[in-house]
Amino acid sequence: MPFNYSLMASRAAGIAEPAEPLLPWCRIGMRIRELLSCGRPCFSFEFFPPKNDEGFAQLRETLASLHELRPSFVSVTWGAGGSTRRQTVELLTQIHKDHGIEVMAHLTCADAARQELREVLGRLAEAGIDNVLALRGDPPGGGMRFERHADGFEHASDLVRFTREGFEFCVGGACYPEKHVEATSMDLDLFNLKRKVDAGCEFLISQLFFDNQKYFDFVARVRAMGIGVPIIPGIMPITNVAQIERFTNMCGATIPHSLLDELRRLQDDHHAVLSLGVAYATAQCLELLQRGAPGIHFYTLNKSPATRTILKAIQTVYPPARTPAGWWL
Ligand code: FAD
Repeated sequence: MPFNYSLMASRAAGIAEPAEPLLPWCRIGMRIRELLSCGRPCFSFEFFPPKNDEGFAQLRETLASLHELRPSFVSVTWGAGGSTRRQTVELLTQIHKDHGIEVMAHLTCADAARQELREVLGRLAEAGIDNVLALRGDPPGGGMRFERHADGFEHASDLVRFTREGFEFCVGGACYPEKHVEATSMDLDLFNLKRKVDAGCEFLISQLFFDNQKYFDFVARVRAMGIGVPIIPGIMPITNVAQIERFTNMCGATIPHSLLDELRRLQDDHHAVLSLGVAYATAQCLELLQRGAPGIHFYTLNKSPATRTILKAIQTVYPPARTPAGWWL
């Protein structure tokens, strides 16, 4: 039963309410598909496992600072070729248990045999983790060709099917409003996206983008193909010009000329770049939500100030709501 906000309004207005119980399922341990059907925007943060103690100290601070914003969930990436597998699982477990935040594990097919994937999924399940983002992973060493493990999978859709068949996780996948870099056409990429959803993917999170029209056009094309799952836009606040140019070159996203010109003009002034990045992302997020996006997934790069300022501003328009069961949405 999706959370019914008009019911709260009826209550406030003294209108007789139906006898249905309110949110019997609303609790920590909610699957992302349930969070997405609550009728509230879903805000999530993406972190990566730090490489050293200093990085962990910074992430602890970031978590403490973002915790009070009541994210719907937090995700932790899977390092290239499974390089962070231990840290990813430990970090997720810590965030879930110590901070009481819903979590999502990223998992890739890169360099992994089915048995290893099965073991990782088993460990995640044992740790009480309910949500997995099933990905293919990038070709190692920045190469263009992905080589599957001899006993592994070639496409994210294979991992989605494997995870859905053997486990109870809520499974999501990645999508690309400006096309995946390896796909020769958007049509082909969308055809493959449909395979992923048909394999059991229940929601999608997009690659970063800076032109909202690309997201809206993409969603329209996806819907025209009969794909109905929620598509959460992925937003990366710009904090550093060289870094964002590098990222966009790698993932095939584009920066609108007007924004890029302004960023280049300001690039030696760190504070000015930060202010522009925060203002731009805030405007981007508000338009996305106003035009129907189901939430925002923030690529935080393990830092809190920009994401915090943006989400604080968004929450003046979309405040978190306390459910009658006492949980925050
Ligand atoms: P797929 O869905 O398999 O698609 C990859 C390419 O193969 C596309 O061009 C697609 O069109 C094509 N394709 C798909 N299925 C078929 C098929 N059946 N037949 C032929 N072609 C097909 N990487 C990490 O290493 N760790 C992470 O934690 C991580 N997190 C991410 C989170 C998000 C939200 C996003 C958007 C990306 C993330 N990535 C991560 C990067 C991701 O692994 C790369 O973008 C990778 O190149 C593709 O992954 P995918 O899951 O989209 O692959």
